[in-house]
Amino acid sequence: MAADTLSSLIGALTGGSVHIVDLTQPLSEQTPLLQLPEPFANTPGLRRHEISNFDDRGPAWSWSWLEIGEHVGTHFDAPNHWITGRDGEDLAAVPPHRLVGPAVVIDKSAEATKNPDYLLTVDEVKEFEAEHGPLPEGGWLLLRTGWDAYAADQAAFLNASETGPHTPGFDAECARWLAHETAITGVGVETVGTDAGQAYRFEPAFPMHNFLLGSGKYGLTQLANLAALPATGAVLIAAPLKLVGGTGSPTRVLALAPGTE
Ligand code: MN
Repeated sequence: MAADTLSSLIGALTGGSVHIVDLTQPLSEQTPLLQLPEPFANTPGLRRHEISNFDDRGPAWSWSWLEIGEHVGTHFDAPNHWITGRDGEDLAAVPPHRLVGPAVVIDKSAEATKNPDYLLTVDEVKEFEAEHGPLPEGGWLLLRTGWDAYAADQAAFLNASETGPHTPGFDAECARWLAHETAITGVGVETVGTDAGQAYRFEPAFPMHNFLLGSGKYGLTQLANLAALPATGAVLIAAPLKLVGGTGSPTRVLALAPGTE
């Protein structure tokens, strides 16, 4: 039976009725970075250090070593990233079955275009569930806001003013509810973090990090191409580094979705 399922999946991938959507932003020295205010420390972005490039140091090979923060670009937040989850899983402890699962997409791009401080509420998630069924057990809630359009431009992506960054996200009650009253594995967003730009003012501060990671769930950030996914029915595959003690990792995120054929 399982062999039949895999065989038909292979046929669907080959035939084009299922296709692979890359939910990952390109990772480069220009990838936008979270910017915390004073007195907090900030993450470095990507730097590449050449080891050899078809030269005396290695005539037939080119390679580099990387310097990069754990939380840069499209990346995975593990529970031990936040103080509420500090005794929870590190990246290496995340079981592989939790890295593959169903994904639903709530599209609030129209709302976020009108209001960059737009926040998803519990009532709106329940409206989505009334139309599409319950949030998937062992799966992902992906919030589409259209913010991926700014992913190559640090200033537009952070959208900061003298009142701090202004980017969409979730209100505190929605964060608590998703963490404690749903069976999802995690939440994915297009913005620089799972919390809204103004979430440092919320009670508690950074409620998505506080509640989600504190309850052993995960975050995925800076996602791309959510517009190519259906509201329900996609399968998400997230592959962070199996970094021992790691709190986060740049991650290749893929989805299996219905194709055009
Ligand atoms: Mn992070």
